Amino acid sequence: MANKLTILGCGSAVPTINNNPSGQILEMCDKLFLIDCGEGVQNTMRQMMLRTARLYSVFISHLHGDHCFGLLGLISTWGMMNRTQDLHIYAHKDLEMLLKPLMEYHCHDLPYQVIFHAIDPKKKAVIFEDRTMTVSTIPLRHSVPTCGFLFEEKPRGRHIIREKMEEYHIPYSAVPALQAGENWTTEDGITVPNEELTLPAKKLFRYAYCSDTGYKPAIVPQIKGVDVLYHESTYLEELAESAKRYQHSTAKQAAKIARKAEVGQLIIGHFSARITEQHRFLEEAREVFENVVLAEDKMVLEFTQ
Ligand SMILES: [Zn+2]
Ligand SMILES: [Zn+2]
Repeated sequence: MANKLTILGCGSAVPTINNNPSGQILEMCDKLFLIDCGEGVQNTMRQMMLRTARLYSVFISHLHGDHCFGLLGLISTWGMMNRTQDLHIYAHKDLEMLLKPLMEYHCHDLPYQVIFHAIDPKKKAVIFEDRTMTVSTIPLRHSVPTCGFLFEEKPRGRHIIREKMEEYHIPYSAVPALQAGENWTTEDGITVPNEELTLPAKKLFRYAYCSDTGYKPAIVPQIKGVDVLYHESTYLEELAESAKRYQHSTAKQAAKIARKAEVGQLIIGHFSARITEQHRFLEEAREVFENVVLAEDKMVLEFTQ
């Protein structure tokens, strides 16, 4: 199944006619993840008629309002829609302290559990793991503690050719050994080479979300070779001073990170309301890195492996 990214908002702090603040949904390994939840996220979800039954986890990069003001409304709405599945929120520890009193006032008697997981944005750590994938923090450079998130598929071993299993009457219990590359020996003592029974393992998908951040080449080793990088690009080079002052990046700096990290594709977003001609972000980034996509609200990107 293809991995899919839906951009719900790619503006910065001030909403504009075109852009809501940050929010996106990543569909990966048959799961949905909400990454940041600015104001307007639930409205966009509704307008796009997105199904969120499989959305169990929310990752919040930092506690600036444009990345978390949409959470309370979303939690309340899901309550009214009789959601029953637990909701896990991964964020800086202060989010629980800030949100709990508001939830007690506005969202008491929720039919589901909201479980907060405190993360340390300054440290690189695995914060989510299951059978198929992991999510790790990427420490970023910003005016408050901030981290990005790296979503990575876990190695799954070689791909079994089902017809060959039947042909050689190989039991299911032998699958792990075949996935690990071992040969098969038949009852007659004939060795069947692994290459005849399996195909090479599928390339593993990796997605990195990096917003908000000043230019930080130190993240390059961690995101090296990812298939897709979303990197903030709040300003253009002509406003590089503002980028430095507010710890944001220019389109050129985002592209430099993409080039250094040799990523497959770069998506730029978190555009300042001060720059209305958004094609200029794309032009500036393309001077440094060719495969760039300019994020748009309600954009859906599919990544086939
Ligand atoms: Zn922001
Ligand atoms: Zn911020």
